[in-house]
Amino acid sequence: MGLFNKFQKTRESIETLRHYSNSFFRIVIDEVISGTEAVINGRPTILAGTNNYLGMPQRKECIEAACQAIMEQGTGTTGSRMANGTYSIHVELEQAMSRFLHKKHTIVFTTGYSANLSVLSTVVGPKDIVILDADCHASIYDGCRLGGVQVYRFRHNDMADLGKRIERLSKGGANILIAVEGLYSMLGDRAPLREIVRLKTRYGAYLLVDEAHSLGVLGEKGRGLAEEAGVEDDVDFVIGTFSKSLGSVGGYCSSNHKELELLRFTSRPYVFTASSSPANIAAARKAIEIIEREPELRRRLWENANQLFNRLQEMSFVLGPAPSPIIPVRFQEIPQAFEAWNGLLENGVYVNIVLPPASPDGTALLRCSLSASHSPDQVEKIAKAFKKIKHLA
Ligand code: PMP
Repeated sequence: MGLFNKFQKTRESIETLRHYSNSFFRIVIDEVISGTEAVINGRPTILAGTNNYLGMPQRKECIEAACQAIMEQGTGTTGSRMANGTYSIHVELEQAMSRFLHKKHTIVFTTGYSANLSVLSTVVGPKDIVILDADCHASIYDGCRLGGVQVYRFRHNDMADLGKRIERLSKGGANILIAVEGLYSMLGDRAPLREIVRLKTRYGAYLLVDEAHSLGVLGEKGRGLAEEAGVEDDVDFVIGTFSKSLGSVGGYCSSNHKELELLRFTSRPYVFTASSSPANIAAARKAIEIIEREPELRRRLWENANQLFNRLQEMSFVLGPAPSPIIPVRFQEIPQAFEAWNGLLENGVYVNIVLPPASPDGTALLRCSLSASHSPDQVEKIAKAFKKIKHLA
């Protein structure tokens, strides 16, 4: 009994949430109709809250590549990358990612979470400093914790705050790594990478950019925010995941520092977990190929993003700072956000509900995300469902 006393607060929070919405605990995809539609609780529902930016999980070529990998290599590797879990397709994917991202070295990890955990717990240590954007993903925070590094946060995208901190901290002589995301997962806004690079260069720091939500989404060739901002050579460590625009599971870090390769021997989240399955690796490899040859996917994604952003803006919802495939709709009060979320579900639209502390500034968000696979008609249906719950915002 004593062991579980600490869960009392969690129990109470769950009860409060259940009071707002029973459905919150019952979101199960009973049937996948397509990349943008599923049966949820017996009702066909438009999915506007996934990370399926480019429709890759449903692409025939990705499915075929995954099936072929299973037929030829089995369902799992049953081992760590360090031991028996590195197959030739893992190595080929690392080479393909390096080529695609114009970096010399890439390590493929089992998830994006473990990519951040690996890099941040190994590249920096207790004598080093990480200055990170307050809105960074949990895996960045957790990696810092695992490595015991000194962590300082700057206010989200606030360059004056970053400038002040880096100036003060650089006086101590420790190595400094700045950690930011490309496109932020909750607000859908971009890190001001050029200014960050300017500060990094001025103070001799290193830079890690987590492009989890920007791979395949930003940049002329889909390489992410660093490509769009023209600062790829200034990014020391590019982190990413296969679980969003690539429609698979896995993660990577790419870098021009040859020391990245040493992580294969020193990083616990690389060494002590099984490698990604052949199917996941084959699907990610095919998706990268498709991103390289089909820029129109990105164009369609952005058309959909602009369409929904404009429609919601016309209705005077409070949104993120700019159109993006991630569109946060803000609610001041949690009960109203839940009521709106329930209302959207009843109108056949699923979005993510994000509550403090996961939401950035204490407000509740309904986080919409678009896919290149949404039709203009589906985007219009999403907008119409929002119109019905406008009185709650
Ligand atoms: N970084 C960011 C910014 C993310 O949003 C996520 C996933 N939510 C991850 C890392 C972790 O990726 P994965 O799902 O592959 O573990």
